[in-house]
Amino acid sequence: MEKIQNYIGGELVKPVSASYNDNFNPATGEVYSYVPDSDQRDIEAAAAAAKKAFSTWSVMPIEERATILMRVADGIDANLDQLALAETTDNGKPLKLSSSVDIPRAANNFRFFAHAITQFSSEAHSMAEMAINYTIRKPHGVVGCISPWNLPLYLFTWKIAPALAAGNCVIGKPSEITPMTAYLLSKICMEADLPAGVLNIVHGLGGKTGSALVSHPDIPALTFTGGTKTGKDIAGIAAPMFKKLSLEMGGKNPNIIFADCNYDKMLETTVRSSFSNQGQICLCGSRILVERQIFDQFKRDFVERTQSLQVGDPLEKNSDLGAIISQQHQNKILSYVELAKQEGGSILSGGKKVELNGRCKNGWFIQPTIVAELAQSCRTNQEEIFGPVVTISPFDSEAEAVAMANSTQYGLAATIWTENLSRAHRVANLTQSGIIWINCWMLRDLRTPFGGMKNSGLGREGGLEALRFFTEPKNICVKYE
Ligand code: NAD
Repeated sequence: MEKIQNYIGGELVKPVSASYNDNFNPATGEVYSYVPDSDQRDIEAAAAAAKKAFSTWSVMPIEERATILMRVADGIDANLDQLALAETTDNGKPLKLSSSVDIPRAANNFRFFAHAITQFSSEAHSMAEMAINYTIRKPHGVVGCISPWNLPLYLFTWKIAPALAAGNCVIGKPSEITPMTAYLLSKICMEADLPAGVLNIVHGLGGKTGSALVSHPDIPALTFTGGTKTGKDIAGIAAPMFKKLSLEMGGKNPNIIFADCNYDKMLETTVRSSFSNQGQICLCGSRILVERQIFDQFKRDFVERTQSLQVGDPLEKNSDLGAIISQQHQNKILSYVELAKQEGGSILSGGKKVELNGRCKNGWFIQPTIVAELAQSCRTNQEEIFGPVVTISPFDSEAEAVAMANSTQYGLAATIWTENLSRAHRVANLTQSGIIWINCWMLRDLRTPFGGMKNSGLGREGGLEALRFFTEPKNICVKYE
C-alpha cells in the first residue's frame, strides 16, 4: 500500500518519526494508503528549507514566478484524471464532481494568482506641495497554510497559490483525512521545477503537525480553513505571538426563498445547494426559509426532488451523492438527526444510513435528509452539521426572514430568491453574511472577497484581498519641500 511522503526542500521524504497513520477510502471503509505522522521535527526541517528558499524566491522577477506557477497549473490540468480519481478515492465525493469542479478549480487557483500578481500594485498618497507617501508591499517570509478535507486540493491551492505568487515560501498542512492530492501536487511541483523549499507540504494530525506549524516562531502569517472550534484554538496560540491570521470557518447558511422567485430555477438550485458533496461544503445552505404562501408546494416538490437523488458508489456516473468523509462524521451527522427528532422535528425525507452492495458495502453513506417543524433557536438550527441534512421553515414577512437568517453565531453565506429587485438588495443589505448569492449559488468570481463574518471567519481570501494578506505594507513618506 502506498505510503504518502512529505515534500520538504524539493524532495519527497519520510516523516522523521518513520510512523504513519491509516488513510481510508470512505466509499469502501477500507484503509488504502498511509499518511505521515509528522511532528515538530518535520516542521523544523520544512521551516529551514523554506527560509533558505525565501532569499531567492522573494526577489525573483514576478514574471518568472508567474511562469513557474503557470507550469504548476498546466501540470494539474495534464493530470486531471489521476487527480480526480485520487480525490474521489480519498474523500468519497462523486467522480463527476472531482473532475468537473475540484481539480479544474485547483488549476485555476494557480493560473488566477499567477496572473493576478503581475497586476498587483500598491498605493501612493500625495500631500499637496509638500510630500509624497508611497507604500511598498513585501512578502512575509515563511507562511503556514492549513486546509480541511471537504474540498481538499481546491482549498489547499486556494491558499498556497496566492502565498507563493506574493513571494512567500510556504509550509502547507493538508487535512490528514484527505492527503493524497496534496501529495500528488508535490510531484507536479517537482516536475514544474518549482525551486526547492519554496513549497513544503508536511502531512499529519491537526493537534500535532498543525499545532507545531501554528506555534513555530519563524512563521509570521497563517491561513486556516476548517471548523470554528479549531480556528479558536489556533487563534489562542497565534494571537499572543502577533501572527497575521486569516481564518475561514464554519457556517449555518440560510436560503431565503420568497414567493415571487423563479420557482423552477430556485428548486433545482436549492437541491444542489443542500446536497452537493453530501452537504459537506461550507457554502451549502442548511436552513431553508420559505415564504408561507409557497411553503406547502415547496415542501412537496423539494421532498420529491430529494428522493430522486441517487446515493451510491462515487465512481458511478449516476451517483448524485457519494460517501460521507469518515465513520466518525457519519455518526455525528446521524446523531444530529436523532437530536432533530428529540427537538420535535419531523423527518420529511431520509434520516438513515444507506447500505450499498458490492465494493461499497462497508462504506459510509447517508440519505439526503429534510427536517421540518423546528424553531430557529434549537440546536439543530444553530449548530453546523456539515452533512446532507437541511431544515425547512416558513416565514411570514421580510423582516421575519431576515431575523431568522441572522439568528445564528455564523455568517458565512446566504442565498436570496426573489424577482423583486428592491427586495433583493434590501434583504442582502440586512443579511449578516460575508457572501450572498441572489438567484444563484456557488457562482464564483475569484477576484471577489471570500469569507465569513461573525464566528465564520476573520479576514477575506480571494483576489487582491489574498495578495494583501500575504504581504506586509510599509509606507514611506518623502518630504520634498
Ligand atoms: P478541522 O478544523 O477539523 O481541520 C481543518 C484543518 O486544521 C486540518 O488540516 C486539521 O488537521 C487542522 N487542525 C486541526 N486541529 C488543529 C490544531 N489544533 N492546530 C492546527 N491545525 C489543526 O476541520 P475539517 O473537519 O477538516 O473541515 C470541516 C470544517 O471546515 C467545517 O466546519 C467547514 O464549515 C469548514 N470549512 C470552512 C470553509 C470556509 O471557507 N469558511 C471552507 C471549507 C470548510
